[in-house]
Amino acid sequence: MIVPVDDRDVNLLRRCVDLAAEALAAGDEPFGSVLVDAGGRVLAEDRNRVGGGDHTRHPEFALARWAADHLTPADRAAATVYTSGEHCPMCAAAHAWVGLGRVVYASSAEQLASWLRTLAVPPPPVRMLPIRDVAPGVAGEGPAPGLAERVRDLHRRFHRPASPTRLVTSVDVDGREADPSEMSVSARHEAELADGGRVVLLDDRGWGLSRRSAPGADEGHDIWAAQTVDDIRATARVVVGPDEPFGGRSSKDMADEHWTHLQQTLRRHGIAVDAARLRRLPHDIVLSERVLARLGGARGDG
Ligand SMILES: [Zn+2]
Repeated sequence: MIVPVDDRDVNLLRRCVDLAAEALAAGDEPFGSVLVDAGGRVLAEDRNRVGGGDHTRHPEFALARWAADHLTPADRAAATVYTSGEHCPMCAAAHAWVGLGRVVYASSAEQLASWLRTLAVPPPPVRMLPIRDVAPGVAGEGPAPGLAERVRDLHRRFHRPASPTRLVTSVDVDGREADPSEMSVSARHEAELADGGRVVLLDDRGWGLSRRSAPGADEGHDIWAAQTVDDIRATARVVVGPDEPFGGRSSKDMADEHWTHLQQTLRRHGIAVDAARLRRLPHDIVLSERVLARLGGARGDG
């Protein structure tokens, strides 16, 4: 088994996983695939569409038929199918019958079989076999570490749907050294799901204070000592909230944009929730031990 490491492979696999998440958000099983020509150009893509009751509507099957209709035998042989999950026997057979080239998958049939066992899902009517056992002439490559875990989460959500129950912002010290003249913290904003899982909504937020910017601060002033837990909680809420209005936009525009952005992030993880409901969720701010220790230490010293 070969693990794809090429950056282009990983980007195309990421697109497949996004398509799988789209399928899940539309209430379908999470599978997505992309057909690429010899030059790396995307020719067609599709996601699973079995929700309507036709269980042959797998994306890999749709792409094989698309290729048969649109490509010459030589172009088919030179094309690659990227997919979130290794082909099932039906799709592996279609792939081989139309003479397509390599298959690169984010997660393997073996992984899917084990995830479904863990979730106590009854086995499908068709045995889950590796592509090579169905189509020995097809080169299959995968799984892709990192992406396979995302695919597993999508399957878990399909079989055990969980909706967000609260928002959590975790505040931590940014940097390792304790510096009394400078305070720098990061704020990671996540949605917690009913099954206990979390989805990162924002991971680029944070703020800092320095002695130079603190009014009336002298040399010995510990910047952390001037901060209370409540100050930090209040700042964290602002920092992970909507941006300040700019370019003629109102606060309401900024807020709408913010909540729509978070909603779309959840949708990419296969979680459908409307922005208004997201906005009403409880929001907890959690300070790390390191932050609490500095505040506590600063208070004790001062
Ligand atoms: Zn299939």
